[in-house]
Amino acid sequence: MTRYKGLMLIGDGMADRPVPDLAGKTCLEAANTPNLDRAAAEGALGLLDTVAPGLRVGSDTAHLSLLGYDPRETYTGRGPLEAMGVGLEVKRGDIGFRCNFATVDDKMIVTDRRAGRIRERTNELAHAINQIGSLEGVQIIFRESTEHRGALILRGEGLSDKITDNVDPHEEGHPVGQCAPLDPNDKAANFTARVVNEFVRRSYQVLKDHPLNRERIGAGENPANIIIPRGAGVAPHLKPFHEVHGLSAACVVEVGLIRGLGRYLGFDVADAPGSTGSLDTDLDSIARTVLAALETHDFVLCNVKGPDIAGHNGDAPAKVKIIERIDAMVGGILPQLLDRTVLTVLADHATPVVTLDHTGDPVPFLLWGPGVLTDCSQAYHERAASGGGLGRFSGLHLVHVMTNLMNVQEKFGA
Ligand code: ZN
Ligand code: ZN
Repeated sequence: MTRYKGLMLIGDGMADRPVPDLAGKTCLEAANTPNLDRAAAEGALGLLDTVAPGLRVGSDTAHLSLLGYDPRETYTGRGPLEAMGVGLEVKRGDIGFRCNFATVDDKMIVTDRRAGRIRERTNELAHAINQIGSLEGVQIIFRESTEHRGALILRGEGLSDKITDNVDPHEEGHPVGQCAPLDPNDKAANFTARVVNEFVRRSYQVLKDHPLNRERIGAGENPANIIIPRGAGVAPHLKPFHEVHGLSAACVVEVGLIRGLGRYLGFDVADAPGSTGSLDTDLDSIARTVLAALETHDFVLCNVKGPDIAGHNGDAPAKVKIIERIDAMVGGILPQLLDRTVLTVLADHATPVVTLDHTGDPVPFLLWGPGVLTDCSQAYHERAASGGGLGRFSGLHLVHVMTNLMNVQEKFGA
């Protein structure tokens, strides 16, 4: 059998619900997408429930599923993914947290959960935090992220993520909470909670007189004088993608969270110059990077973030426009893929402009390439996909549908 390559192209949050301002059409229906429509006519469409019918998913759980890892078994919370996303090297068994730089008074009352929306020089604060080194033999690894955000890793023996998520009071005017084990008899959880509380206390000691915070106070700004971790999760034991499928894999993705996930699953991360993760991203550059990655890898995952941003903003015209730009990108790459690559184009979930957040609606997907049995589809959108020949199934199976068409799948049975 001739082996083909695979390209999974995801318009993040691209699926939609009917939009009153678009005369009841979805953004995909309203958009002018001649290239995707042609691919639909040459290929076949279907609907995917990314994880399960009606289940609202995040981008992280959606991508796990689309890559063949059932998030209902493997997802351990956002903390470890967040840590991967900011570029920390996460190892199996690490405990990861999302963090905020915040402001507390000397009674440990949180007066500003976002430390005056600090934007600059948090790397200096992170450097100071990393000087803590270790607590009770547990390695402390911290990295700043955008604005007031950061991520923390605890690495060592005898740790657990079975701890309360109450250090962050989530409201200003309340004291920093004390982390506790979920089960008071759980030795590892008791130990981890103690380390977390000690970390929070030490972060205040380290940061309260940091030169940057003195400057901030002098300038009338809230100091970033404490780190507040939340969303603890143990880094899951996931077999690398190349080991599961015997394929070399690369990803071209714009969001830290998904990039981190890709790296954790053993994908080579290819960065496209000019990709911003926003509506002004350089899709020509992304297309070039995808094509280059396909030269050297069997399987490439590409995620374009823009549609999700437009969906969260409730901005239908912007969503239509980024979809049209994705269509032009597809038009540019299709001729390069011809006769050697199986392409799927889909959304990881719907982010309807009418709901401003993810919904559990099924997403349309397109299969195009050698071996794909053409159905009657003539256009690429939700309504066309509901009548497509590929039917409707869980996103968990998509990777098998692809590896089957790529002729690279091991036989199940004799
Ligand atoms: Zn998403
Ligand atoms: Zn989103």
